Amino acid sequence: MINYEAILSEIAEEIVPYLSLGKVADYIPALANADLNQFAMSITLFDGTTYNIGDFNTRFSIQSISKVFTFTKSLNIHSAELYNRVGKEPSGNPFNSLVQLEYEKGKPRNPFINAGAIVITDTLISHYKSTEATFENTLNFIQSIAHNKTIDFDSEVYESEYKTSFRNLALANLMKSFGNLDNSVDDVVKTYLKHCSIAMSTKELSRAMLFLANHGTDPISQQNFITPSQAKRINALMLTCGHYDASGEFAFYVGLPGKSGVGGGIVAVVPNMMSIAVFSPGLNSWGNSLAGTHALQLFTSKSGLSIF
Ligand code: GLN
Repeated sequence: MINYEAILSEIAEEIVPYLSLGKVADYIPALANADLNQFAMSITLFDGTTYNIGDFNTRFSIQSISKVFTFTKSLNIHSAELYNRVGKEPSGNPFNSLVQLEYEKGKPRNPFINAGAIVITDTLISHYKSTEATFENTLNFIQSIAHNKTIDFDSEVYESEYKTSFRNLALANLMKSFGNLDNSVDDVVKTYLKHCSIAMSTKELSRAMLFLANHGTDPISQQNFITPSQAKRINALMLTCGHYDASGEFAFYVGLPGKSGVGGGIVAVVPNMMSIAVFSPGLNSWGNSLAGTHALQLFTSKSGLSIF
């Protein structure tokens, strides 16, 4: 029997020296004042048991973790056709890079870099016919996988990011010029940013990700959200692309499919066992939570749980 409680307390102590080494995502003004000392970690097992430590009920901006949810939703609607517009290869580039997109003619490498998630948002707007319906359906989907109707977005983070979203607008404009965006650049970027500004706690995130640890079916409610083969592919992409140009590092040190966000959150999946979420706002140079990554590395080392 693994003593999760003991492991989490050890981790919370061991990561302390790492908390101040990260840098907050100050390119989003509303996130610039985040407290570097914040830390939270949550585990949800298949029988619904949860283990938590730190500020696990504090909601934070999920940012790029939302890309897992929008990709799941879009895959559900458009199936494999989606891959005509977004690839499935690691980019080896930062999450907001423009260079590759130019020479690869507006087709993003994968759904987890910004360009890819912007295309995914475009496919959702085309399906739901309006930006409002797209956001509402995305939020409803997140609320239903998290089994929590109170989850919402943070309008201050949204407004603040939109004002400084020059790179995302550049990515969207570039894709529009190549014919890989059907809706208006402004509508797509605004909706994408609204998804990113959804706020959740580690406890809620670890609950929400459980269906991906169980082939697309929530093991607690038995609700099915996606096919087993689609769940397999989302996990594969999280492993190979979920941490951008540090995805190799994450696989090497942590050894689990995972997805990070510049709000400081990371979610990870232990197939057939559990889902884990961690939060600490200080980021490493790749834009992934520094103490959060270390906490997950400690978790897989101490528990012996990894996919390798
Ligand atoms: N909203 C952020 C952006 O578009 C998301 C990036 C991230 O979390 N890596 O820059």
